[in-house]
Amino acid sequence: MTQQNQQKLAENLSQILNRIEASTRLQQRASKPRLLAVSKKHPVEKIKIVQALGQKEFGESYVQEAVEKMNQLTDWDIVWHFIGPIQSNKTKTIAENFAWVQSVDRMKILVRLNKQRPESMPELNVLLQYKVGGESSKSGANQTEIKEMIEAAESMSQLKIRGLMSIPPPSDEFDQQCAYFSEVQAFYQLLKNTYPQLDTLSMGMSGDLEAAIKSGSTMVRIGTDIFGPRT
Ligand SMILES: *Cc1c(COP(=O)(O)O)cnc(C)c1O
Repeated sequence: MTQQNQQKLAENLSQILNRIEASTRLQQRASKPRLLAVSKKHPVEKIKIVQALGQKEFGESYVQEAVEKMNQLTDWDIVWHFIGPIQSNKTKTIAENFAWVQSVDRMKILVRLNKQRPESMPELNVLLQYKVGGESSKSGANQTEIKEMIEAAESMSQLKIRGLMSIPPPSDEFDQQCAYFSEVQAFYQLLKNTYPQLDTLSMGMSGDLEAAIKSGSTMVRIGTDIFGPRT
């Protein structure tokens, strides 16, 4: 990693932190959303630089790639989040290696993660992925399915349901972005009436974090605007 690349990463991170700060103030929100740095498709060297700048939570989307990186970063203080699509043959590796899973979209996966989370580890933090924007959105569960999963998880001792994650269909229009995020927020608030322990609403990426913060996001997931374009 050249000096120039290091400097670029530092600049990018501080710009993102400034955007989060500015939006939080503009929306007069009491607290800032957490930042998840999405490092998929970027090398371990970049993760080290960003971690050394104070960022501790990182998100990965591909199980194999993530585990290889973790093995090179065992001594580093990092909280790992899995945010990619989950195939059932990968749940064991996820359950044994991550602190958080944000992309749980069906009961079968939830049940497997609970069975496979080792007793010796703390509970696995889970976000259920909510499908917003109808047919144009590829993955996620609908409201009925999400309610069924939260209900079932009440008796799953190895999991802790923390809230929702959502990826709306891409849009460049601020108002359209807000419309999607408000729908997610409304559903999250509805769930909180029954499950007041929920504390995490993960929404907002590089292109729409301001709209997400306006709609109550408590965690934004930023890849490109920190690490640059993925190859
Ligand atoms: C890749 C990814 C991100 C980061 O997206 P950027 O547009 O690069 O900021 C966020 N969330 C999920 C679920 C992702 O897969």
